[in-house]
Amino acid sequence: MKKDLKFNSLTIHGGQEPDKAYGAVMPPIYQTSTFAQKSPGAHQGYEYSRSGNPTRHALEQALASIEKGAHGLAFASGLAAMDAVLKLLKPGDEVVATNDLYGGSYRLFTKVFEPLGIRFRFVGMRDLAAVEAAIGERTRLLWVETPTNPMMNVVDIRAMAALARKAGAMLAVDNTFATPYLQQPLELGADIVMHSATKYLGGHSDVVAGALVVRDSGLAERLYFIQNASGAVCGPMDSYLVLRGIKTLHVRMQRHCENGRAVAEYLRDHPMVEAVYWPGFADHPNHDVAASQMRDFGAMISFRPKGARYEDAVRFVESLEVFTLAESLGGVESLAGHPASMTHASIPKEEREKSGVTDALIRLSVGIEDAADLIADLEAALRQLG
Ligand SMILES: *Cc1c(COP(=O)(O)O)cnc(C)c1O
Repeated sequence: MKKDLKFNSLTIHGGQEPDKAYGAVMPPIYQTSTFAQKSPGAHQGYEYSRSGNPTRHALEQALASIEKGAHGLAFASGLAAMDAVLKLLKPGDEVVATNDLYGGSYRLFTKVFEPLGIRFRFVGMRDLAAVEAAIGERTRLLWVETPTNPMMNVVDIRAMAALARKAGAMLAVDNTFATPYLQQPLELGADIVMHSATKYLGGHSDVVAGALVVRDSGLAERLYFIQNASGAVCGPMDSYLVLRGIKTLHVRMQRHCENGRAVAEYLRDHPMVEAVYWPGFADHPNHDVAASQMRDFGAMISFRPKGARYEDAVRFVESLEVFTLAESLGGVESLAGHPASMTHASIPKEEREKSGVTDALIRLSVGIEDAADLIADLEAALRQLG
């Protein structure tokens, strides 16, 4: 591959060569568990598909390339990728994490790793002094999610990298919402980038997969050891689907961002809408940080219809016809969700309201349909509330 390609070319060519066997342009789906050996140990680079598979390897190289890293690792899901990072730690080690994390991440931390002796401190990471105060002698890892779900808070990755370095800890960033098209955490000082490839990287709501990308080869080796030893690898078919998705990431993201802006501005100007959460607005509390570390502002938006109660928000999402009511995000089709009854239903009402997840909050993953159709759908759903 030619060196120094720009991002929009790397999504298509990054880390990829035509297949060695017949020159197939798209890496073939090597749907095999094992590989023939000429004599014991004499193989062509692959022995067993948990340890390594050519289709997964092609994806791992593409991931490293688009995140400006040196090593990529593909997992069975985003949570499996996170699980591998946490297995770098030992009992007694501490993690300082964003307080409004993705619910599944919070569950993995508190229900799986806390009982094994890892300690977690959750802080609002817009407050740098609070993060610094939470870091102790045993802090080994800072876990950052930005923008956050569903309140779209933005965390300053450069500032977190400086705090991590000072404490001798690693910085991991969940880059699922932003994607490397909008933000490249390794360039901003992070040690590990994590993805739920289920979302924008796959982009078509047809696969569950996860990813890690790092630069340091020692760290890559430890993670590879865990990936192989624990075994939550991305299968060949799923690797192929994510690779295929990545090839159009830049085109999709460009349209996602255009539609995201159109929908966010429409909602902000609507008399029946009380508040809109989107980092592209100049009055978003961390707009400056977003503008300094992101290329554009994405298509994840949360909002609250004026005076709406729990039942109104439910009625709103039920009445949408172009937006589909569903969990997840980042696909070409627009999705709507009601966090209070869906993603955040397991969090006590008082707890979730503290972080802004009130009964009336609605979250949108704006897709790449025609923006006029999306806005007409929202308009009809808002009208039937009033
Ligand atoms: C979906 C998601 C995850 C978990 O990924 P899975 O692929 O569902 O395991 C983690 N973080 C964020 C921000 C997510 O949206």
